[in-house]
Amino acid sequence: MVKRSVYSICGMCTSRCPIQVQSQSGQVTFIQGNPHVPAMKGAVCPRGAAGSALINDNERPQTPLIREGARGEGKWRKVSWEEAFDHVAGKLAQIKEQYGAKAISLSDRGGPFRDIHQAFLRGLGTPNYVNHDSACACNVNHSALSLTGMGRKGVSYDLKNARHVVLQLRNIFESINVQEVNNLMDAMENGCKLTVIDIRANISATKATRFVQIRPGTDYAFNLAVIHELLNKRLYDERFANRYFDGLKDLEQFVEPYTPEWCEKETGVAAAQLRAFAKELAAAKPSVIWHPGWMAARYRDSFYVCRTIYIINALLGSYGAKGGLPFVSSPGDVSRKGLKKFVDLYPKPKEKRADGAGWKYTHIDGGAGLAHLLYRAMETEDPYPVKAYIAYRHDPLMAYPEPERLKKMWEKLDLLVSVTFSWSDTAWHSDVVLPLSPYLERESIIATKNALKPHFFVRQRAVEPRYDTKADWEIVGGLAKRLGLPELVFETVEDLWKFQLEGTGVSFDDFNATGMVSLADKPVYLDFETYKFKTASGKFEIISKKLEDAGLPSLKPYEAPQSPPQGQFRLTFGRCASHTQGHTVNNPVLYEQMSENVLWINTKAAQKLGIGNGDRVTVSQNGYSEDIKAKVTDLIHPEAVFVVHGFGHKLPLESRALGKGLADNKFMHGGMDLWDPAGGAIAYQEHFVAVTKAGA
Ligand code: SF4
Repeated sequence: MVKRSVYSICGMCTSRCPIQVQSQSGQVTFIQGNPHVPAMKGAVCPRGAAGSALINDNERPQTPLIREGARGEGKWRKVSWEEAFDHVAGKLAQIKEQYGAKAISLSDRGGPFRDIHQAFLRGLGTPNYVNHDSACACNVNHSALSLTGMGRKGVSYDLKNARHVVLQLRNIFESINVQEVNNLMDAMENGCKLTVIDIRANISATKATRFVQIRPGTDYAFNLAVIHELLNKRLYDERFANRYFDGLKDLEQFVEPYTPEWCEKETGVAAAQLRAFAKELAAAKPSVIWHPGWMAARYRDSFYVCRTIYIINALLGSYGAKGGLPFVSSPGDVSRKGLKKFVDLYPKPKEKRADGAGWKYTHIDGGAGLAHLLYRAMETEDPYPVKAYIAYRHDPLMAYPEPERLKKMWEKLDLLVSVTFSWSDTAWHSDVVLPLSPYLERESIIATKNALKPHFFVRQRAVEPRYDTKADWEIVGGLAKRLGLPELVFETVEDLWKFQLEGTGVSFDDFNATGMVSLADKPVYLDFETYKFKTASGKFEIISKKLEDAGLPSLKPYEAPQSPPQGQFRLTFGRCASHTQGHTVNNPVLYEQMSENVLWINTKAAQKLGIGNGDRVTVSQNGYSEDIKAKVTDLIHPEAVFVVHGFGHKLPLESRALGKGLADNKFMHGGMDLWDPAGGAIAYQEHFVAVTKAGA
């Protein structure tokens, strides 16, 4: 019996917690949080603990597959990796020959391991890399860029030392990041206050010192009134504002009409409550975190909600502060050399991006791009035909609105490839499925975490693949070898890691002790007096030239949200602690924890419709309907209904998930065109549904 223990990185969600995995004779026996990372406290969340169930699940792609019937028909031919690589590489080469390299595109979920995917595309000569951000974090990211010149990851959240944490777009106790949860709980034990602003009393709200139930779609009004109160009562951090704000007067004038009394009418939150809250925030400054979250693809004005969140943090002096939003350091900031990047092996393609990011939409960052506009370009062939699409650990048919419309947008594709470790609607609809080894069976490239203490970290293989699956670097290498990109082909993962570490002064053996290599001895809090934001002025810029040049206001007047039509509800969705979007609902262990989603509906609204708790109800919109069980509760605002996202699977080979719960994205008619022109994200919560008792 061979016992092994490796340090690795959890892959059950995008928090990517550091873990330690024990195995015996090739079977995973125990997964725990990396004991060398204090904030992990040795723990993983329920999903992290279900990692071994993922590798033992035989209802996942086990071998490369090439489609035989029509797209989505489910007729597959099992093939060897050699044949799969030859087939995909052959098609890519043919498309490149006929339409140019720019006709090839790839999407992934972003994150720290994407360098090799981006390098593969650059090597081919196409600019069309996107990630899933337009369905998630792109409003947050662009709002941070517009004010500070750096993206959302330019700061970290010093939750452990915070004195007041505000969660508005972040449900921290259900959309879990283990270190964040532990740090916040420690802070709360030391007296940190927690305020939750939401339309629904979620689990985070049940732990809060203050829960603000807000009318759906009015977050912007609430935040504008908080800014008004902070400025009007001079509750803000004047030292920070005088030193760093560019445009404070503009802001003061802009928020003048947005008083707490005005806000009360819009949001339903009493003016006195808002005033007391603003006072509490001021008392805790600068150790305040108004967490901007990341999933801000919600309303038409969510980009501006995110901007107000960052503005409030700045008014409270939280930027750079202990217990606030300290700036992160990169290896260069601590006089260390960063990893050698694969992407630097090739020149940046000169072609314009198909999604328009950076040229048609000059204020949109080309890094993550806008996936929904890439899909539109596939349909319209404007600005040019896009003929190949590789969805890398990405399931747009579950993640974007209107899956049937999306399938139509993909009709002109000559090649649709899914690289995935679990079945998904997108994999089922693909021409080729390349099965990725689940994270416990694969290595990843070494990655950098820019943080208070920057470090390198790596995912290591805990056990050998159970099925005929491969790691990312092996899949990219297999295609690269056939497409004339020998620089991306490595015999062993050690060779690949050696390439990355060249010149850093770090060797792979340095990861043995703890699974990571720290690049600084202690946290580096940057100097307040000398620090400059990454904007042209070096200040926190209220007026963004990029936005204004694009014809978009920096300070956008508030517009009240549409009320639900008579008899309808605003459809809202979110996360729970047992599942990560759609890819865990068929996991045998997590399925046992939560097998279906339910429809949260307000008690009074349900009573009017004759709906009782646990009743089956029919949810419908635009001629489409599904049934689901109702959870009748006082804890949700009467204008909205809510479901946990990721359910409603219809794939025949997912025996557990099949037919359980409701897929929210199918109730978003017109949703692919409903996106925020300033932040770029889809406005998912601008849809209304009718609810009736099933069979009534
Ligand atoms: S939060 Fe849970 S699922 Fe996500 S990476 Fe951490 S342990 Fe894994």
